Amino acid sequence: MSLIKSIQARQILDSRGIPTIEALLTADDGSQVVASIPSGTSTGSHEAKELRDKNPGNYQGQGVLKAVDNVNKILGPAIIGKDPTRQTEIDQILIDMDGTADKSHLGANAILAVSQGVCELGAAVTGYPTYKYIHLKYRVSENLDIPTPIFNVINGGKHGTGNLDFQEFHVIPATNKAYSQALECGEVIYQTLGDVLVHRGAISSVGVEGGYAPNLFTNTDALELIMESIKQAGFEPARDVFLGLDVAATSFYNGHSYAIRDKSQALTRSELLEFYKEINYKFHLFGLEDPFSEDDFDGWKQVTTSMSKQTIIIGDDLLTSNKQRTKEAIDKNLCTGILVKPNQIGTISETVEVIKMALAANWHIVVSHRSGETNDDFIADFAVGVSANHVKFGAPARGERVAKYNRLLQIEEELKGS
Ligand code: PEP
Ligand code: MG
Repeated sequence: MSLIKSIQARQILDSRGIPTIEALLTADDGSQVVASIPSGTSTGSHEAKELRDKNPGNYQGQGVLKAVDNVNKILGPAIIGKDPTRQTEIDQILIDMDGTADKSHLGANAILAVSQGVCELGAAVTGYPTYKYIHLKYRVSENLDIPTPIFNVINGGKHGTGNLDFQEFHVIPATNKAYSQALECGEVIYQTLGDVLVHRGAISSVGVEGGYAPNLFTNTDALELIMESIKQAGFEPARDVFLGLDVAATSFYNGHSYAIRDKSQALTRSELLEFYKEINYKFHLFGLEDPFSEDDFDGWKQVTTSMSKQTIIIGDDLLTSNKQRTKEAIDKNLCTGILVKPNQIGTISETVEVIKMALAANWHIVVSHRSGETNDDFIADFAVGVSANHVKFGAPARGERVAKYNRLLQIEEELKGS
């Protein structure tokens, strides 16, 4: 049996140029892994809290040197000498040492750097690729398969510098395609959409997840242009490829109404629901993420009751990968799918628990990156290991996004050979 020998954390930059934490873990058999931690831009208020220094002299207050210290001086020493395959036991030690419900004492970023690193080290010392190790350890399902990708091709809201209110516009290849075909399909549509937007003079830049961030008249226009690009690229909408949205409604809710540029006046809850029904009728959405604000349970209940037969209602800011929030949403029938992000909750064990809870409710599982990413591809292995239905890793472009999509290509090849 190999044991954890050392843990060394440092501050690095994420894809937005904002500091994050990276940890190097070594086992006494010489195995080494590096875990780096992503960070959100449109974070849900019920997420576990990452620790930032708030020292204006270090990266304008965004530094994570305290979190680094917490790994090097507190969390790391507490688990040195332990067997890295004992994930649940180690995660419980981390949770207890922090002692808060939202991990704000030692920082969810510090805690996840250790928890994720331990998972990867557990795989390394047992000689399995990480996806297989996770699969064998948790047995979330019997099948080992590549989840279907959700490509975020247009970035609005808090993610883009263009003028769209909705945060993410997705293209989602049909589930019957092999992963490598699905990747090609998403990439060809992404390139075609780029040409379509240039032709319109609409691109201002790309957003934080590599999708285009255009200025357009309405959010519906963006859906129209994606539809046009799908056809121009030679695919048939609603057969070869589907559309989807993460509207991230908390970002355009003022506590009473929802303001979007498609309508001249802010919408009530029921007016917004009618709008979603209209666009779903027209565009056949595969999934609709965060259609209402994170605590607008009435809105969530109404959308799930009236639309979940046609489209998957996915909770992200609503659930924040949190077991209590997820249980409440299951009991109240607030959605039919969960977006899973390990850093929203802070440990690998708790993330797997929430997935099992969601699966028991027959929900759809989407494993997701964050808008602030590194080149770490752990999340790709994790998604395969827990048998997620879909993965959401951003556009099929930009290094930190394609690191994950490319890792799935490797896994696909390995699975074919096995
Ligand atoms: C999302 O909202 O689904 C997302 C990935 O963005 P962020 O990481 O900014 O929360
Ligand atoms: Mg989201």
